[in-house]
Amino acid sequence: MATDLDISERKITSVNPATGEELRSFSCAKVAQVQDAVSRSRHAQLDWDGLGIRKRVNVLRTFQHLLHQNKTAIAQMITREAGKPYVEALLTEVMVVLDAARFLIDNGYSLLRDEVVPHGNLAMKTKRGYLVREPYGVVGIISPWNYPFSIPATESLAALVAGNSVVLKPSEFTTLVALELASLLHRAGVPQAVFQVIAGDGSTGKALTESALDKLIFTGSVPSGKRVAEAEAARLLPVVLELGGKDPMLVLDDADVDVASSGAVWGAFVNAGQACLSVERCYVHRRLYSAFLEACVRKTQQLKIGNGIDPDIDVGPLIHEKQLQLVESHVEDARRRGATVLLGGKRLTEIGPNFYAPTVLSDVTHEMRIMREETFGPVLPIMPFDSDDEAVQLANDCEFGLAASVWTQDRKRGEALARRIQAGTVMVNDVVSCFGISEAPHGGVKASGLGRTHGRFGLDEMVRIKYVDSDRIGNIKKVWWYGYGEKFSRQMEGFLDMQFARALTERVRGGLRSTRALFRKKP
Ligand code: NDP
Repeated sequence: MATDLDISERKITSVNPATGEELRSFSCAKVAQVQDAVSRSRHAQLDWDGLGIRKRVNVLRTFQHLLHQNKTAIAQMITREAGKPYVEALLTEVMVVLDAARFLIDNGYSLLRDEVVPHGNLAMKTKRGYLVREPYGVVGIISPWNYPFSIPATESLAALVAGNSVVLKPSEFTTLVALELASLLHRAGVPQAVFQVIAGDGSTGKALTESALDKLIFTGSVPSGKRVAEAEAARLLPVVLELGGKDPMLVLDDADVDVASSGAVWGAFVNAGQACLSVERCYVHRRLYSAFLEACVRKTQQLKIGNGIDPDIDVGPLIHEKQLQLVESHVEDARRRGATVLLGGKRLTEIGPNFYAPTVLSDVTHEMRIMREETFGPVLPIMPFDSDDEAVQLANDCEFGLAASVWTQDRKRGEALARRIQAGTVMVNDVVSCFGISEAPHGGVKASGLGRTHGRFGLDEMVRIKYVDSDRIGNIKKVWWYGYGEKFSRQMEGFLDMQFARALTERVRGGLRSTRALFRKKP
C-alpha cells in the first residue's frame, strides 16, 4: 500500500512537449487526501443519484453547450499540454466529447430506466420481472496523457449520467486538461464533490486503486493495467481495463493503393503515433507492396512537423524523453535485425526537444520488437504477405487485440476477414476513427484489456444490474412449497409434458394432469 511518506511533497509539472516550457506544477495528492476525496465523493453521490436520470441528462446538456462555446480554448490547451496538432485536438478530443454527450443526452434515459424482462416459463407466469440499473457509487477513473480530454471525459460523462460520482486521477503529464474538464462539469451543475480531480503520479493512482471505490475504469499500458488488475482482484473490485494495442492494417490485393496508403500514413502518424488505435504494423499484399511503399514514403515526406499550435502542422512532438527513447530502441532493434529505414529513423532536435521524424520501415519481420511490442510513436513498419490466410495469421500473431483494419474494394470480403481477426474493433477501409462513433463500444481482447467504454456497453459498465421479481398474486402459496410425494411428482411430470412434449396429445394430457396440482391443499 502506498503511504503518505512515499508521495508526500512530490511535485509533478505540466510541460509543453513542443517547446519544453513549464506550464504549471502540482503537488501529488497524498494517500489521506485521496481517501478524503473518495469519502466526500461517497457522501455526495447519494444526492446526485437522487436527482434522477432526466435531471442529470439536463446537466450534460449544459456541459455540452459550455464545451461547444469554449471549444477553441480547450483545444488550444490540449495542444499546449499534450502536443497534438490543433485540428486533432478539436476533432479527436473536443468533437468526440461533444458527440459522447449527444449520445447520452439522446439515449441516457432509455438505456438507464427500468426494463421489463418478459419470460416464458409457465410456472412463473404470476410474476413480473424487471431490471433496475443502479449506479455503483464512487467510480475511480485513471487516464493516460495521449487523449487527455476525450478519454476521461467520455468515461466520466457515462459514469455521471448513470448516477455515480467520479474521482479522476489524470496522467501526471496532463493535469491542466483534466482540471479544465472539471471546471466545465462544475459550471454545468455537477457538484464539486461529485466530480473531483486528484493530481499526482503513478503513486497517487495506486492510492486511488487502494481506496474505498466501487468500480475502477483504468486506461493505460499493459504493465500498469496488470498491476491494477492484480490489486483489485484481491478485493473483487470490478474494473474496466483499456490497455495497449499493436493494431494491424491489412491491405488486400484488390485495395486502392492511393486510398490505403493515405489511410496508413494518417493512421500511423496521427497524434505522432501515440494513439492506442494507431496503425502499429502494416501488412500489404505482395502484388501492391512496392507501389504501396513508394506512396507511403512520398506522402510522409509531405508532412509538416512542428508545434501543433500552428494550424499548418500535421505531426507534433512526442510527449516526453522516455517515449522518444522507446521509439528509438524499437527502430534500432529493427535496423539491427535487417529492416530498411526508408524515411525518418531519427530525432528532429532542430525543431524542439521531443520531435521524432515520421519513419517508414520495410523488410521487417515478426522477430523484431517493432512488430511485436507497442511502439506508441510515429513509425510505420510495412511487411508483405501472399494470401488472405497469411494476413490473418500475421494479424493474430500478437499478444494484443485492440483494433485492426482491412482494406479492400470488396466490402463483403473485408467484413468476412474482419470476423477472423482477434480484436475488439475491426474497421474496413478506415482506421482510428471508430473512437469518434459514440454508439460504438471501445475496448480490446487478449492483453488489450477487459470490458468496454463508449456506447450502450460502456454505459452498462457504470451500473449494477438488479433483477426485481414481483409476484402479481401475493396471497397464494406456490404449489411447490413442500408437500412433495408420488402424486405431486406425477402432476409435475405432466406439467413438463404440457410445456415441452413434442406431440400435441401428450401436451394436452400433461396439462390435464398438472392442473390438478393447482387445487391441492398445501402445508
Ligand atoms: P501508464 O500505464 O503509464 O499510465 C496510465 C495511468 O495510470 C496514468 O494516469 C498513470 O499515472 C497511472 N498509473 C501508473 N502506474 C499506476 C499504478 N501502479 N496504479 C495506478 N495508476 C497508475 O500509461 P500511459 O499514460 O503511458 O499511456 C499510454 C498507454 O495507454 C499505452 O499503452 C496506450 O496504448 C494505452 N492507452 C489505451 C487506450 C485504450 O482505450 N485501450 C487509450 C489510450 C491509451 P502517471 O501518468 O501520472 O504515471
